[in-house]
This record gives sequence, C-alpha cells and structure tokens, in this order.
Amino acid sequence: MSELRFDGQVVVVTGAGGGLGKAYAKFFASRGASVVVNDLGGSFKGEGKDTRAADVVVNEIKAAGGKAVANYDSVENGDRIIETAIKAFGRIDVLINNAGILRDISFKNMKDEDWDLIFKVHVKGSYKCARAAWPYFRKQKYGRIINTSSAAGLFGNFGQTNYSAAKLAMVGFTETLAKEGAKYNILCNVIAPVAASRMTETIMPPDVLALMKPEWVVPLVAVLAHPSNTSESGSIFEVGGGHIAKLRWERSQGLLLKCDETFTPGAVLKKWDRIVDFSNPQYPTGPNDFLGLLEESQKLGPNEQ
Ligand code: NAD
Repeated sequence: MSELRFDGQVVVVTGAGGGLGKAYAKFFASRGASVVVNDLGGSFKGEGKDTRAADVVVNEIKAAGGKAVANYDSVENGDRIIETAIKAFGRIDVLINNAGILRDISFKNMKDEDWDLIFKVHVKGSYKCARAAWPYFRKQKYGRIINTSSAAGLFGNFGQTNYSAAKLAMVGFTETLAKEGAKYNILCNVIAPVAASRMTETIMPPDVLALMKPEWVVPLVAVLAHPSNTSESGSIFEVGGGHIAKLRWERSQGLLLKCDETFTPGAVLKKWDRIVDFSNPQYPTGPNDFLGLLEESQKLGPNEQ
C-alpha cells in the first residue's frame, strides 16, 4: 500500500509548538503538506507567550526539507491563523484544532477565571479557527477538520470540571460541523488522545509515558485528514499507546408510558429497570422520533403506579 501523502495541501495545526501538535506538524510536512505551525508559546496553564515554541518546529521542518510557517497568535484569534495560511500558501485544506491548556482545580475552589480561560482556548479557539477556515472549505468543496476532546470530557475527571465541559463541547461542535459540512465535502471528526506531553508528564509515571508517544496518535489523524477519507465524519475516536477505538452513543430501549394523568413519578419508579436496561440497545445518531413515540404512547393503557 502506498503511503498517505498530502502533497499540495495546506494544513493548519494549532498548538503545534510541542506535544501532539508538534508531532502532527512534522508528520504532515514530511508527507508533502505546507504547514502553518501555530503556537502562542505560553505555559500549560495558559500564562505568558513566546515565539520560540513555533519557531523551533518550523526550523526543524525546514531543516528536513519541508514547508512551514510560524504563527504566534492565540487560537482565540483564529482568523489571523487562517490568514497566515492564505497569505503564505494561498489555501487551506486541513485544520487540526489541537491547542490546549489546563486549569485543574477542584470544583469547590474553581474561579471564574479558571473556567473562562479554559473555554476561551478550547471552545472559542476551535470555533474561531473553524469559522475562519469554513468559507474556504465551502468554496473549494473540500475540508478536513480534526477537533480534540479528552477522556476527561467523555467520562469526567476529578479536578477538571472546566476542562471536561469544554472538551465535551468539542463533541457537539464536531457532530454539528459534520452535518453542516457534508454537502460541501467538509468532514469533521474528534479525537480523545492519550500521549506523553508536558500536560501529562506530572500525572503519568515515566514507564507509562515512554509507551505513550505523541507520534502514535498521528496515524489516526492522518487517515481522518486524508483525501481518501470520504465518509468518516462526525465520529469520536479514542487514540493512544497503539490503540484506536471509535465511540458512539448508546440508548436503552427505554420505557414508554401513556401520557395521561397516570404518568406520575410512581409510574416511572415502578418500571425504572426498563429505563436503565441496556440489553437491547440502540446506537442513535439523532434524537428519538418524539412524535412517533407520542402516538404509540396514546395507544397504551393507563400506567401502573
Ligand atoms: P501540550 O501542552 O504539549 O501542547 C499544547 C500546545 O498548545 C502548547 O504548545 C501550547 O503552547 C499551545 N497553546 C496553548 N494555548 C494556546 C493558545 N491560546 N493559542 C495557541 N496555542 C496555544 O499538550 P498536548 O498533550 O500535546 O495537548 C494537545 C491537545 O490534546 C490539547 O487540546 C489537550 O487538551 C489534548 N489532550 C491531550 C491529552 C494527552 O494525553 N496529552 C489527553 C487528552 C487531551
């Protein structure tokens, strides 16, 4: 099988000065893409800025014979990042929304500043970059977006209410962009990666970190971002340490009650087991047909209390 290449394509990677973003940027450049290496260069808590983070990666790419330019804007100014791609390379084909920070703190001690900054970087940042790229994608009827969620967003994690909420927002954002983009061949997916980086170096032991190279998240991202992907969109993937899996929503078959005066808390409690029974699950990609259910419910007899 020939290697997946990105010749002639322009790839924007946010937060590409280190960790996963650096691995993506170097990979895409090594496979023929022109890459915008965006990084604000601040601390993992979102303090300060420094042009060096992006510059180092651009220099490494160029030294290896690749094409790259640096951009030092915060993702909150995503329009400037996309403008860098257009000015330097005349187009944009792939957007990797990867930049991120942490403000871990128990909910009891959470300050508005910790909450707001996490949302600004992860949610607003991803929105601003995608929003600025969107008209180009639509016009050329081609675009690939990879957003970045987290296990913390999918499952919750102690001390990360801000980060979890922002990271789950990436799922809804992705699923809607996938729906709006379908007509224009704009595919959008979201990953929950696990990799060694400055974000995880304090929470994982060294022997585990050694097995969690950012480079091992890259192959999935490459497959999703490649023109040969013509159908995978709106999907959630876990990826790290050599493992890749797709996640989806699961709905219990559920309980249908008659909608009349017998629809009481007692009636719900009586058949609670049916609500939480996953033995005959559905895997929905949209909300239930409420009108259809309402019609069915009217055919039922009064509910047991
Ligand atoms: P990292 O800290 O090494 O990389 C994040 C990069 O984003 C940094 O270089 C940082 O300077 C940059 N950045 C931060 N704020 C920015 C801003 N406002 N504008 C532009 N750049 C900014 O961390 P990483 O582990 O490589 O994380 C990459 C992404 O993956 C993040 O979105 C993170 O939340 C997510 N993630 C990582 C893991 C993991 O195990 N490493 C797990 C789940 C999710």
